[in-house]
Amino acid sequence: MRRILAGSALAMACGLVAHSGCVGVGGDGHSDLREEDELVLGLMEDLGYHQDDIELADTRIIVDKDLIFFREKLLNGEYAPVTEVDLESDPTEKGYRHPNAITVNVANIKLAFAAGATTPIKNAFINAAGDINSVANCNVVVSQNNTGPTITVREVAAVNWGTTPCAASEPACTTAPSGGNVSTDIYVKASGIAPGCSAWSNSAMDFAFRHELLHALGFTHVKQAGSIQVFDSAVCSGTATTCADMPGYTTVMKKTLELDSSTCAAQPWIPTILASDDRLTLSILF
Ligand SMILES: [Zn+2]
Repeated sequence: MRRILAGSALAMACGLVAHSGCVGVGGDGHSDLREEDELVLGLMEDLGYHQDDIELADTRIIVDKDLIFFREKLLNGEYAPVTEVDLESDPTEKGYRHPNAITVNVANIKLAFAAGATTPIKNAFINAAGDINSVANCNVVVSQNNTGPTITVREVAAVNWGTTPCAASEPACTTAPSGGNVSTDIYVKASGIAPGCSAWSNSAMDFAFRHELLHALGFTHVKQAGSIQVFDSAVCSGTATTCADMPGYTTVMKKTLELDSSTCAAQPWIPTILASDDRLTLSILF
């Protein structure tokens, strides 16, 4: 997810173009680093990701702004496919994580909070998890009472945001799932979430935390490069670029959280509950 304020889309778009120039940051004379960057990019492309969506940053690989891979895990093969996905699928559509299916104990996913998480953030995540748990014909249960694979929400003060794996411009991100497990960590910036918006509004949290939890369950942005369309879920006929924010249907996996610049509330077209296609996709996958 990325977030922009109304009226700043052009500036952000230019920022993104500038950002993609960061791919291959090893231009510092260290040829071994450059070689590893090339290897990393090659491995990411093997997983289906497009170079334009990848930002290399020290130990991390940031995909499409808010999904975080780690070099060491990638080089160890931990993001490789773990199972053949038993789904009819087309290449490149919305919904589902690249080849790495979430298969482990989805009915017993524990939602945990690292020390320092505040009540509004906690409650918004519990509410978002409840929305996911309410989906009919879906086995996923994400709850603080569970004992299985754990997603830990880490609320981090703005002054320490640089210590997280998230892109500096983003107010939240999720580590990529691996080994059939859900993501282990979701990072949330405690304040200063956008220029002119210090605190999270309720509607911004409602969208963003559903979005990040679905990333943790393997969802991608709409038609993200490398993603696999979940059979029978909605289809976007455009390109990865146009579908990301104009999918033609409502989904919390829309890429960008646009905020009203005066109220900091999510813009009216931003869903604050799971959309029907999100629910359908969950029920098909799980
Ligand atoms: Zn996202």
